[in-house]
Amino acid sequence: MYRTHTCGELRLSHIGQTVTLSGWVQRRRDFGGMSFIDLRDRYGLTQLAFNEGVDPAMLEIARSAQREFVVQAVGKVVERENKNGNLATGEVEILVSEFTVLNRAKTPPFTIESETDGGEELRMKYRYLDIRRAPVREKLLLRNRINMMVRTYLNDLGFADVETPFLIKSTPEGARDFVVPSRVHHGQFYALPQSPQTFKQLLMVAGMDRYYQIVRCFRDEDLRADRQPEFTQIDCEMAFVEQEDIIETFEGLLKHVLREVHHYEVGSIPRITYDEAMRLYGNDKPDIRFGMTFVELNDRVKGSGFAVFDNAELVVGIKVEGGAGYTRKQLDGLTDYVKRPQLGMSGLIWMKVDDQGQATSSVNKFFDEAALAGWAEAFDAMAGDLVLVLAGNANKTRKALSELRMHLAQELGLRKSDVFAPLWVLDFPLLEWDEESGRWFAMHHPFTSPKPEDIPLIDSDPGAVRANAYDLVLNGNEIGGGSIRIHDRSLQQRMFDLLGFSKEEALEQFGFLMNAFEFGAPPHGGIAFGFDRLVALMGGDEVIRDYIAFPKNNAGRDVMIDAPSHIQMTQLTELSLGITPKEQA
Ligand code: ASP
Repeated sequence: MYRTHTCGELRLSHIGQTVTLSGWVQRRRDFGGMSFIDLRDRYGLTQLAFNEGVDPAMLEIARSAQREFVVQAVGKVVERENKNGNLATGEVEILVSEFTVLNRAKTPPFTIESETDGGEELRMKYRYLDIRRAPVREKLLLRNRINMMVRTYLNDLGFADVETPFLIKSTPEGARDFVVPSRVHHGQFYALPQSPQTFKQLLMVAGMDRYYQIVRCFRDEDLRADRQPEFTQIDCEMAFVEQEDIIETFEGLLKHVLREVHHYEVGSIPRITYDEAMRLYGNDKPDIRFGMTFVELNDRVKGSGFAVFDNAELVVGIKVEGGAGYTRKQLDGLTDYVKRPQLGMSGLIWMKVDDQGQATSSVNKFFDEAALAGWAEAFDAMAGDLVLVLAGNANKTRKALSELRMHLAQELGLRKSDVFAPLWVLDFPLLEWDEESGRWFAMHHPFTSPKPEDIPLIDSDPGAVRANAYDLVLNGNEIGGGSIRIHDRSLQQRMFDLLGFSKEEALEQFGFLMNAFEFGAPPHGGIAFGFDRLVALMGGDEVIRDYIAFPKNNAGRDVMIDAPSHIQMTQLTELSLGITPKEQA
C-alpha cells in the first residue's frame, strides 16, 4: 500500500497513529544528525522528521532525496514543537521509521513552491511541474468544483447533457473555422465547431426540450492577449421559452455559483438596454462595480466659441469623486492616455471643484464661472471632485471615455475582486454594418430572432431592428450571451438574404437547419457562458490561461508539446494536401 493518508490530512487527532504517506519532496533541511522533509501531494504538505538517533542508513537515503523525488515514508504522527500556523497539517509531523525512494527526479527548471522563480514560458513548457504548485493546482480544482455546481444546477432543472460532434461543417459565429482534412474524402474538410449552435437548435427540433453541455469550442481568431483558440462554453438551449424564461433560469445559475463559491448573495440582477449601456458606459459590457457614468454635455456647451466642442458630434464626461487633488502631472498623464493612437483623442478637458466649491477648468477662457457651475450641476460634482471631458465623433469618443473610465477605476482601486456586480444587457441590434465589405453582419449570429415588433423594419431600416438577444455581464466581462432563435423557415431565409447569402449558398450551408424548421420546430432559445472566464472571475482573476490545465500561449502555441507542428510528407499525401499521390510516385 502506497499510503494510508494524504499529505493534507493529518491533524492533532491522529497523534500516536502509524501512517504511510507518499508524495514529492518539496524541500529538505539537514541539521547535524537530523533532517526534515516537506512532503507534498495534491492535498497539502506534511513534515517528515528524521530525529537524532534514527537509523543512519535510513538517514543517508533520506539525505539522498532531492527536490521532487517521489518518496514513501512510514512513521508515527507526533505533535510538533514548532507549530506552523500557515499549514493545515502544521501542528503535527511524522517521526519516520521507514523511508523509500520510489522515483528520482532531475533538478526542476524552476522552484516548485507557491512563490516561484520560473518565468511564464518556462512554466508553460513544464506545465506538469507548474501544476504541482498549490496556486495553479487550486485554480484547476476550483474549475472542477464550478463544473460540478453547474451540472448540479442544470440537472436539477431537467437539462440533459447531450454530446454534439466535433467534426462538423462550418457554423458562422463571426470567427474563422479550424478545419480538418478528410483522408477518405479527398479534398474535403470538416470544420471544428465554433460552438454547437446549430446542433443544439436541432436538439430542440428533436424534442430534447432542455439541453446543456460543458463543451470545447474552437475559433481561429487573430491572436489577442488572453484569447485561447480552444475554449470551453457552458452551452444551453431550451424549447418553448421567451427571453424572460432564459433570463430567470441563467440568472439563477450565476447566483448558484456565486453562493456556492463565495457565499455571495446578489439581489435581482439589473438590466439595461444596449443603447443605454453605450450611452452611460460607452461599452456593451460595462463594469458597474463603480459609478462614473457618462454625462453628455452637448446641450450645455455647444455654441460657446470653443471649436473643439462646437465641432464635436458628442461632448461627454465622467466625474472622478474626490479627484480634485489630481496634479498637473497626473492630468497630463491622463491626457497622454487618451491621445494614444489606440484611442486617438485630440485632448482631454478637465474641471475641478475646489474645497470652497469654486470650479476651475482647462478651458476657463471659454467657460465662465456660471457655465462651469452648470457643468458641476450636470455631473452632480461637489467640492473636491474632478470632471474629465472628451469631445469628438460619438463612437470613438464613447470608446475612449470608456477606456479612460476603466483605467481610472483600476488606478483608484475601484475594481475590487471581491465584489460581484452582474448585469443583463438586452435589446442588442440585430445587425451590424461593416464598412469594409459594405454589408450587414449578424451582431450575435444569423439564427437570432428579431424582436417581433421590429420585423416590419427589416426591409426599410435594417440597422434599427433589435434582436431578442441578451448578454450577461460580470465586472466588465461578458460571461454569457444568447438569444431567442428564429424557428420559422421563411424568416430564417429572409435573414440569410439580408446577410448577403444567395439562395444556393444558404441552402448549401444551412439547408439542414432550414429543412428541420419545416418539421415542427418549437420556439426556442438559449445561451452560452464562457466557462474559462467565469471560473477565472470566481477565482478573483481576469486571466483565463491560468485556469486551463494545458493552455496555448499568446501566439496560439502549445510550447509543451510543441504544436502546431509540421506533419510527415506521407500524411500530407494521404490527405491530398499540396501533393498528389501521383506526384509523389
Ligand atoms: N452560440 C452562441 C455563442 O457561442 C451562444 C448562443 O447563442 O447560445 O456565442
